[in-house]
Amino acid sequence: MTDLLYQTDAYLQKFIAQVVATKEGALLLDRTAFYPGGGGQPADQGAIRWHAHDYPLTRVKKAGDRVLHWVETSDLYPLPPLGVTVHGLLDWDHRFKLMRTHTALHILCGVIWRDYSAQVTGGNMQPLKARMDFELEHMSAGFATEVEEKINAEVAAAREVTVRILPREEAFQIPDLIRTKINLLPESITRVRVVEIEGLDLQADGGTHVANTREVGRIRVVKHESKGKINKRLRIELDE
Ligand SMILES: [Zn+2]
Repeated sequence: MTDLLYQTDAYLQKFIAQVVATKEGALLLDRTAFYPGGGGQPADQGAIRWHAHDYPLTRVKKAGDRVLHWVETSDLYPLPPLGVTVHGLLDWDHRFKLMRTHTALHILCGVIWRDYSAQVTGGNMQPLKARMDFELEHMSAGFATEVEEKINAEVAAAREVTVRILPREEAFQIPDLIRTKINLLPESITRVRVVEIEGLDLQADGGTHVANTREVGRIRVVKHESKGKINKRLRIELDE
């Protein structure tokens, strides 16, 4: 089992770990700060340093409760062997943009639910760009502008974003979590990670977030689309 450092400290940019196995050309570490992707958030980029050489990360993927790291190797720089200590170095520019974008999506989700009673059905993001799908019958002409004003007000409100890991039973007691279909989580999941934007949004979520909404910066609603009778889509972009 890999200790998932990013779950409790999203701001970790480098870490020390031990190679506990090598599998299909990938490194299995005892701990990692590399986010392996999931929940609409792309995987991290970066490098693994061993013997003063930085092995660029080509892919990182979750496999059960372990994280596999693939790196670029050569005859001169073969895969670091079992038992050695390595340093993980995140591409922080890429990751921090994703943290801001992910929190922006949760702000949007919170506002859409609070003010329009619309259920979010999906979402996806790239650094500083995201889309969100939700169920709403009518979208007025001024909808996008109105939403843009509301979400930027939440950025300016400097709301704290907190992460908690709760026992399943305790998470099931939180009424706000029910709308995010927490009840669909498989029985085998005994602990639920909960991300809360104070006073605005609360979700079961595995991703990495900024600690305060003000770190998100200016959000623009760049497009609104109708994807059917009740399915609507909003696209947002963040300033550099
Ligand atoms: Zn999320």
